[in-house]
Amino acid sequence: MLPLVALVGRPNVGKSTLFNALTRSRDALVHDQPGVTRDRNYGVCRPEGKPAFAVVDTGGIAGEDEGLAGATARQARAAAEEADLVLFVVDGREGASSLDDDILKWLRKTARPTVLVVNKTDGLDAQAAMNDFARYGFSDVVAVSSAHRQGIDDLIDHSLARL
Ligand code: GDP
Ligand code: MG
Repeated sequence: MLPLVALVGRPNVGKSTLFNALTRSRDALVHDQPGVTRDRNYGVCRPEGKPAFAVVDTGGIAGEDEGLAGATARQARAAAEEADLVLFVVDGREGASSLDDDILKWLRKTARPTVLVVNKTDGLDAQAAMNDFARYGFSDVVAVSSAHRQGIDDLIDHSLARL
């Protein structure tokens, strides 16, 4: 069985776009509306000349425990718990939000190895975007632009080093 990498983060940070970049597919629904990805969506990343790994895209974690958003959050937590590695995806344009803080709290509880992925850094000072999340204390931080496929190979290398 392939090792499993879970994409976790609040709605709209670009998890599904990253899923597509990693799996080179258009399977994941990408949408401007938060909450489009409600179920877990599995794919495989097959980097050239490197080991393959499975990727699971999850719905955004919207914070509520009731209704559909709650069900989506539970799915995301279940995906993180079964994963060998979590990619905690955040939005480099918007910076750290209280929802990111909340996700970080339960991610720490799952105690899965985690890489912080600062997405949407196209046209941004990537270092400044990453600095906004410095207080999260991650040793493994990668800046990417999923939409422009920038930093994806670097992210794959970081992920493989943790698998
Ligand atoms: P999800 O809710 O976390 O799965 O986010 P989506 O992948 O659906 O993306 C949400 C929005 O962010 C869409 O409008 C994407 O086109 C946009 N987006 C995703 N990745 C990037 C990126 O690297 N750069 C920019 N500028 N926009 C992005
Ligand atoms: Mg999505």
